[in-house]
Amino acid sequence: MCGVFGIYGHPEAANLTYLGLHALQHRGQESAGIVTSDAEQLSLHRGMGHVIDVFPPEQIARLRGSAAIGHVRYSTAGGSFLKNAQPIAVDYARGSLAVAHNGNLTNAEALREKLEERGSIFQSVSDTEVIVHLMAISRARQLEERIADALRQVEGAYSLLFLTGDAMVAVRDPKGIRPLCLGVLPGNPEAHVVASELTSFDLIGAEFVRDVEPGEMLIVDRRGLRSSRPFEPSPQRSCIFEYVYFARPDSRIDGVSVYEARKNLGRALARERPVEGDVVIPVPDSGVPATIGYSDESRIPFEMGLVRSHYVGRTFIEPQQSIRHFGVRLKLNPISDTLRGKRVIVVDDSIVRGTTSRKIVKMLRDAGAREVHMRISSPPTAWPCFYGIDTPTRGELIAATHSVDEINQYITSDSLAYLSLESMLGAVTSAEPRRAANGGAPHSLPVVPSRPDQQSFCHACWSGQYPIEFTPHPRQRPTRLLER
Ligand code: AMP
Repeated sequence: MCGVFGIYGHPEAANLTYLGLHALQHRGQESAGIVTSDAEQLSLHRGMGHVIDVFPPEQIARLRGSAAIGHVRYSTAGGSFLKNAQPIAVDYARGSLAVAHNGNLTNAEALREKLEERGSIFQSVSDTEVIVHLMAISRARQLEERIADALRQVEGAYSLLFLTGDAMVAVRDPKGIRPLCLGVLPGNPEAHVVASELTSFDLIGAEFVRDVEPGEMLIVDRRGLRSSRPFEPSPQRSCIFEYVYFARPDSRIDGVSVYEARKNLGRALARERPVEGDVVIPVPDSGVPATIGYSDESRIPFEMGLVRSHYVGRTFIEPQQSIRHFGVRLKLNPISDTLRGKRVIVVDDSIVRGTTSRKIVKMLRDAGAREVHMRISSPPTAWPCFYGIDTPTRGELIAATHSVDEINQYITSDSLAYLSLESMLGAVTSAEPRRAANGGAPHSLPVVPSRPDQQSFCHACWSGQYPIEFTPHPRQRPTRLLER
């Protein structure tokens, strides 16, 4: 759960990266960082917190150069410390190098052990640093060959951006697990942008060119933009959870509109798991598009039964006289007038531990709902993700150890139903494509990626079918260094 943004060939590289990261903030709120390059030096600033807090104007002004890469982080590997923030930037034998990574490497610990045995000293516990060390020991001469050399040794999910004094390189892993897209800035066709999601392009006025293809490497330097394919071809396995929950609904991934996909999930849910009700309400915000689809298909009126506060920080001082449902009330509050005496169908995208759903059902009943029927626009989440989505261990996932009936009892709903895996795949692949405003900018790059089919997705968190083998590699370290 991270977002990456990069730009090459624009005098306002740092400013535009700041904006690009702001539009990716939903992908990670823990730390943010930008590295710029002015051909002579790389300048780095990283900090803990939101983009807007880490980068006051005077800080951005210090980041000079016409190329930049940036990162927002939500820790999935390594702890929540400044030293694990990205981009990672180093000086090594061939100059300065920065890297920003979205995804998770499944063999990072094994590689790290080997590297440490031969003398590598790591600065962080983040899996991404392994790539830098592998590049440092590569014997290849060209930057792109060193990157390919390193990446052929790693396994897992990666959408990566690299920056040096004279080039920016973007790589999407051979299975295309995490998204990555390419754009240009109108009026400045030499200025290329790459980002995790289209939301970044919309904000800075960039035109979408196309998604970076699984296994593709794009190199941007003084000579322009080139594409190469340094890996053995592998079947595409994009993360379908991006469509269900993680990406913003105004994004499009691999040609599929996230908003349309979510509405389709809601329609499929209404067909597959109908129930009589007076109103259908979303768990905001992520449940909204699926609820629109559910309402559309079932003809049951859509209502806002819960309102979400967007200003919830990490910690709140709870009044000593304890308030009922304090935690969940900070985030969600019911509108009793739309609920009183009604049979309420409530739609959410997923149940993880079950704690949110349980509190929501109670809250809706307290607000006067006569019946509460929970509908989930994906199958039961029963398996952890090893490719970059922050899910708890299998033991904490309620669906790993409980049947749907048992979960229904636990969350105290009148009925609970999930969408089947088949219907979920059908709903996402049949969503209407969302066209770029300009219909897709013309570009000289080869191949336009085809839309994914039902075999093109990773759905391991629901099916347990992991497209990349993952063997845990536990290691005990005597001590850990902490930067405060
Ligand atoms: P829980 O209370 O643990 O069952 O959490 C369920 C809620 O978490 C749902 O409303 C989901 O939208 C949301 N959710 C699902 N997956 C994630 C995730 N990986 N990180 C944060 N929130 C999530």
